[in-house]
Amino acid sequence: MPEAGGRRPLVAANWKMNRGAPAEARELAAAVRRELEALGLDPGRPGEPEVVLCPPYTGLAAAGEALARSGLELGAQDLDPRPAGAFTGGVSAAMLLGAGARWAIVGHSERRLVYGEDDAAVQRKVAAALQAGLRPILCVGETAEERDAGRTEAVVGRQLAAALAGLEAAALGRLVVAYEPVWAIGTSRAAQPEDAAQVAAFIRERAGRWLGGDAAELRVLYGGSVKAANAEGFLRQAELDGALVGGASLEAAEFAAIVAAARRRGGWGA
Ligand code: PEP
Repeated sequence: MPEAGGRRPLVAANWKMNRGAPAEARELAAAVRRELEALGLDPGRPGEPEVVLCPPYTGLAAAGEALARSGLELGAQDLDPRPAGAFTGGVSAAMLLGAGARWAIVGHSERRLVYGEDDAAVQRKVAAALQAGLRPILCVGETAEERDAGRTEAVVGRQLAAALAGLEAAALGRLVVAYEPVWAIGTSRAAQPEDAAQVAAFIRERAGRWLGGDAAELRVLYGGSVKAANAEGFLRQAELDGALVGGASLEAAEFAAIVAAARRRGGWGA
């Protein structure tokens, strides 16, 4: 839920298929914890940005041990929307909660484009996560071709409408949307902060309208080549509430510097 005075910033780390062996995950999580402490950042304290680390499934438990009593939270990078059964390779929301995750990235463009997930699959995952008590970080974003054809809002609107189908207004305070233009992910070619903020405003307006709730509750992040050097530009935008960070989240000091930029954003009840 947003804190008094505005929405609490959130910075999430998507480690992708890196640092998944338990020893590696423990080491990186511990390093992030140390770097944040060195900067005087305590994500467990009210008024500080929320910080979520999303290792591969195999690193969840070990990263969780390194984060114990730190205020840092754990997330998964995906989930299977089914509760249990003969689904080889599947990992359910309940299993993720049992492994210590409180969040799950859903609909990342790599899941959509590499693994062929469609909008309907993303919708089932969002619904299953919320139902089980996991908070989804729903990713939406257009490809370069779609952007060049002037279809950014059409694509993002379609992905969002599908993912939110069947949800109630209360979901606005539970889920987080990450606007991640596909052309900006892992390319060192971040979006212009003003352009990202404009899409975030579109997302918030549409989500509020479709779910019939208070759109001001919904946190919208930007993701796509965020680094310590450019984070401030995004976090200065009132419409953007934080960042989903891929490559730069594998460097503990770099990631901590992005969290520090989120704290400098202020204006939310700190
Ligand atoms: C991502 O994959 O969610 C992401 C934002 O990656 P990167 O920061 O490396 O562009």
